[in-house]
This record gives sequence, C-alpha cells and structure tokens, in this order.
Amino acid sequence: MDRQEIVQWLKCSPGEELDSLREKADQLRRLSVGDEVHLRGLVELSNICSRNCSYCGIRRDNLSIKRYRIKTEEVLRCAHKAVKFGFGTLVLQGGEDPGLTKEFISDLILRIKTETDLAITLSLGERNVDEWQEWRKCGADRYLLRFETSNKDLFHRIHPPQEGQPQCDRVAMLKTLQALGYETGSGVMIGVPGQSYDDLARDIELFAELGLDMIGVGPFIPHPQTPLGMKENVKMAAEQVPNSVEMGLKVLALARIVCPGANIPSTTAFATLDRKSGREMGLCWGANVVMPNLTPVEYRKLYEIYPSKAASTETPEQSRDAALIQIKHLGRTPGRGRGDSPTHLEQLTKPIRKEG
Ligand code: SAH
Repeated sequence: MDRQEIVQWLKCSPGEELDSLREKADQLRRLSVGDEVHLRGLVELSNICSRNCSYCGIRRDNLSIKRYRIKTEEVLRCAHKAVKFGFGTLVLQGGEDPGLTKEFISDLILRIKTETDLAITLSLGERNVDEWQEWRKCGADRYLLRFETSNKDLFHRIHPPQEGQPQCDRVAMLKTLQALGYETGSGVMIGVPGQSYDDLARDIELFAELGLDMIGVGPFIPHPQTPLGMKENVKMAAEQVPNSVEMGLKVLALARIVCPGANIPSTTAFATLDRKSGREMGLCWGANVVMPNLTPVEYRKLYEIYPSKAASTETPEQSRDAALIQIKHLGRTPGRGRGDSPTHLEQLTKPIRKEG
C-alpha cells in the first residue's frame, strides 16, 4: 500500500467501502494472530516525570497533580494477581522518573522473573542504552516506545528535549531496542493538533519499515492542564486529522494490514472516548490484545495522562471481568501463555536480526 492509498483510506467515509477495510483487517488478524485475545496486566509505576510533553497530563509543569511512585512489594502483589488472573504478561509503564533508577527496575525484573513466569514489557520512555541493556540482561522481554508522530517538526514541538540535551530520535532508539533483542513496540497518537493526513499515512508506512512487533495507537485526548489542552495554544494543520474514534479505528485496521503479525492492543483511549463499545470496536478493527489495569486503585486516578481515563476507579478484578466479558461477547478466546508476536518469533529463527 503506498502513501496515497493510505491517505485515501484515512479519508474514506463510513459505508460499504470502509466496511471492506474493517473486514480485511479482521480477516488478516484471524489468519496471522488467531482468535486469542492476549491479556496484559498494566501497572503504572510512577506519575513523576522530568519531561514536559505538551500532550501529556503527567508532564513536569503540571503542578496540580499529586505525584506517586509505587513500591517494589506493591508491584510484586500486582504480578501475583496477574498470574492468578491467567495473564501471561506484565506491562510496567511510567513517566521518565529519575527515581525509577536502573537498579530499582533491574531488581524489580529479577524478582518478578524469580517468582513468576510472566513476560515483562517495559514502557518507561527514553532511557540510556546502558539501562536498556541491563534490563534486558535481567530478563525484560519487550519495550514500548511510541514515536508519537513521524513528522519531526511536530514531534519536537510537542515533545521538547531535556534541558541542555539535543533533540532525541525515537526511531533510532527503536532500532537500538531491536538490536538489544527486545520485542519492540511503537505507535502514535491520532489527531494531535498539527497532524496532517499525509503525516499519519507516513506514520503507518513507518510501522511497516520498522517491522514492529507491537503497535499501540489511540486518538489524542486533550488534557486541560497541558498546552495542547488549551485552545489558545493549538495550531491545526491545513489538512488536520480529527482525533475521533472512527479515525483511530481506521489506523488500527491499516496497522494490521501493513504489519499482519504484530500484537496490536485495543487501547484505553478508545475505551475512554466510547465507554460502551470503544474496546470491542478496537478488537473488531484489527486488535488482538487488551491491557486490563492492575495498578492499585489509590494510584489509578493519579496516572492521568488524559482526563476521564476509562477504568480509573475499577478494581483489578473488575478490569479483568470486563475484558473477559467483552472477549466472550465477540466469540473470541482469552489468550494463553506469553503471547509473543509472530513477527518477533520469525525474526528469532533468522541468523542475523535486521539492524541499522
Ligand atoms: N513516559 C512513557 C509512557 C507514556 S504514556 C513514554 O513517553 O513512552 C503512554 C502513551 O500515552 C504515550 O506514548 C502517548 O502516546 C499516550 N498519551 C499521552 N498523553 C496522551 C493524550 N493526551 N491523549 C492520548 N494519548 C496520550
């Protein structure tokens, strides 16, 4: 699929033609990753962040939220809960918190790996190669780092560098993570002010070029305590992409078509914008993963990257039950085992992993 064709799909109105896109993505999903929906237990480790991203509610300059960092023992309790619930993976996500030191995370990985058989996914933002290498040695399996948008000017506008540091290159970082042997995930927000259809089509091409093992996408949701949540700051692109569920679903489907063997979650952003059917629609438009939240309830509402986040008051048990009911309703089955991506498993059988 070339860029022009992707743009045409992104602009396609609801109707028979768009139905055919959903059907194609759903069929490819079934053929490539099957009917299992993998459940990943999400633990939000810390909302402390040294970065100042203009889209994110836990940015450094948001002084109106109470900050927290979880304790190791609490994460271990979440890990045991994930095992009890039958999940194969624990996802550890957080802000770029200097207190989540190399040693803290290493110790956490080693303890989870000693006490359980869970696969571990890290989503801790931009860290040093030295840290990524060490965590991999300790047993971390996967790393998620969205490149957010392939438009470099837009990325730098919404994601300023650390003070005194050069602009960062998330695409180069993703290649480093792949070379370290991580199952590697990335993705974008859909409808960030300033994002054009051409930008978004380029994002989808980049998913394929990077040969991603995991792809996470979701509509941008403005947060009132951030620059992009304040109307006066917002600069729209000439051909601005809307931040709608419908546009998000098209991107999910196209991601499945360009990367058939990837693990693709129906993300919380869909469930937040459409509480009743957002998550199920994601699963019908190409997704094969859901991430029930296991974060202890007292921290849950503090990890507010965007407002009214779905499931922010649910207990872990309620999050699991809701996911299982939705999976059953769709006639699908909960995934068993770790749920590694076929794309990654294929790479492992090749003698040299693609680099550079
Ligand atoms: N600090 C980590 C984890 C960030 S939270 C990192 O930067 O990788 C995970 C994802 O949530 C981000 O990558 C971003 O794509 C998404 N996100 C953040 N703010 C958002 C918003 N306002 N609307 C929608 N998605 C958002």
